[in-house]
Amino acid sequence: MNKQVRIKINNSDYLMYDDITVLMACRNAGIKIPTLCYLEGVSQRASCGLCVVEVKGAKSLMRACVTNIREGIEIFTNTKRVRQARKTNLELLLANHPRNCLQCNKNMKCELQSMADELDVRECNYPNIRKRKVPVDNTSHSLFRDHEKCILCARCVEVCSQVQTVDAIEIAGRGMDAHVTTFFDRGLGNSECVNCGQCLLVCPTGALMAKSEVDSVWSEIDNPEKFVIIQTAPAIRAAIGEEFGFPPGTGTTGKLVAALKKMSFDRVFDTQFSADLTIIEEGNELIERIKTGGTLPMITSCSPGWIRFAEKFYPGVLDHISSCKSPQQMFGSVAKTYYARKLKIDPRKISVISVMPCTAKKFEARRPEMTSAFEYWKKELNLKDKDSFPDVDYVLTTREMADMIREAGIDFVNLSGERFDSPLGMSTGAATIFGATGGVMEAALRTAYFELTGSRLPKLELEEVRGLKGIKEASLDIKGKRINVAVSHGLKNARQLLRQIKEGKSPYHFIEIMTCPGGCIGGGGQPIPAGYEILKKRIGALYQEDQEMQIRQSHENPAVMELYENFLEKPLGKMSHKLLHTNYTGKGIYI
Ligand code: SF4
Ligand code: SF4
Ligand code: SF4
Repeated sequence: MNKQVRIKINNSDYLMYDDITVLMACRNAGIKIPTLCYLEGVSQRASCGLCVVEVKGAKSLMRACVTNIREGIEIFTNTKRVRQARKTNLELLLANHPRNCLQCNKNMKCELQSMADELDVRECNYPNIRKRKVPVDNTSHSLFRDHEKCILCARCVEVCSQVQTVDAIEIAGRGMDAHVTTFFDRGLGNSECVNCGQCLLVCPTGALMAKSEVDSVWSEIDNPEKFVIIQTAPAIRAAIGEEFGFPPGTGTTGKLVAALKKMSFDRVFDTQFSADLTIIEEGNELIERIKTGGTLPMITSCSPGWIRFAEKFYPGVLDHISSCKSPQQMFGSVAKTYYARKLKIDPRKISVISVMPCTAKKFEARRPEMTSAFEYWKKELNLKDKDSFPDVDYVLTTREMADMIREAGIDFVNLSGERFDSPLGMSTGAATIFGATGGVMEAALRTAYFELTGSRLPKLELEEVRGLKGIKEASLDIKGKRINVAVSHGLKNARQLLRQIKEGKSPYHFIEIMTCPGGCIGGGGQPIPAGYEILKKRIGALYQEDQEMQIRQSHENPAVMELYENFLEKPLGKMSHKLLHTNYTGKGIYI
């Protein structure tokens, strides 16, 4: 039972519950304690040594992140000894650091850099003592790790283990040989890593970064032979404004479109178009599975980190995963088939660029299954296997897109809003909420209800699957049949639902699993920082946009209906299966 204790911080009295650390007590009192390793609720390794404080009666300084408060404790956070010790500890970190900020991708966004500024550390009086030089880990499609810039704070290790339960990385070696590594030092790309990028969201330095595809995208734009199409995912519009100083939760869809048009993309389209398409295919697949006694529960397939997680850790549930490709990939195959035909452009001249909140999408675009347009054109254009081309050519994160907008000299803040191009830019409110945890489920149920009953859900908002609770459940009566659904975000939460399936005890018909906390809105490619309060605000912006849209159900998207009429024929039809569906087997990508 926690009890209240009287404590003193810098000679002021406070009454606080005794189950907290000195760090939390100081924060509660509005006093900032510097740290480069602590992450609330996730990491408490006390490795950086910056949070030291003096405690009356104690000989040595105490690390505030691992010292609990107690009755009568007297804490001093700003003595000469404390300030000097923090500076010394930071200098020791910098001694082993390259300090070439101008060449670093994290320049001006780096916690280590700002900490040096904050603690007024201008020079380093210690020699570089780290003996072992570890080469950059370039093995992953999504991330790279530069060990030289790593300060061994272990935040990445703890997030991978505690939030994602992937445990792909650990700190190996001792003392001066210590470094973050994977099993047998094989590199991230040859490990259990699912490419989610949650580790890089918390890295305080430039040691962990997304693999940039910015240069390749500029080359495509500059190539007069190429017809360059860009698609932007739902979660981008609610977050990219943060890169330009807008408060979290500011919707900037129109400004984003205007910026992309100024950058000379030939068409600016919306992944929400293919999110609507996904809902129609996925909704029909669910209905078919229920009617024909197919494998249930069916699990969503939009999140490539989750797919990789299932392939690595739960191969037994692969049959449960919807055969629908993700909206990113559906868009790529539709752009290079239907739209290429419509415009009479050779699909090999089309370059499809994605802006995604997600580092795993970079990996997804390189999967061998994602070449449906090539298969479609193979015979007609007399193509050989060596001529194969991907449905999606390059994937940019939200941060990379913001970098490009800045590099192009575009005044994002003062742009007037513009609209997406037609037809692949047309979408509904159901597609907008895809970016939030529970959004795919809510969108799918809006359509599945209509397909089964012929009428609109009495209330489109399904509150039970909204919010940031780890696992959410809902139960709907559709034409006398009870449909049970569940939603999880963050891979640790997914394990609970997957365990039920493995044990044959799952009560659900349909499950949404998203890799990242908060869903795509909290993806590894999104602006940093991305704490829970920020996620809530971004999610709010998506629900707001859904409310304001004229059409809020995927099956009412007129451009998608036209696509069926003129090209795909019907949901789950032959052409849909060829272009929009796949079966994940895990083959060819296991280590
Ligand atoms: S990680 Fe930070 S401090 Fe280090 S070089 Fe990059 S910007 Fe500078
Ligand atoms: S990308 Fe995700 S799975 Fe890979 S190391 Fe980072 S946190 Fe772990
Ligand atoms: S890679 Fe980044 S988060 Fe991981 S230990 Fe190094 S500095 Fe910390």
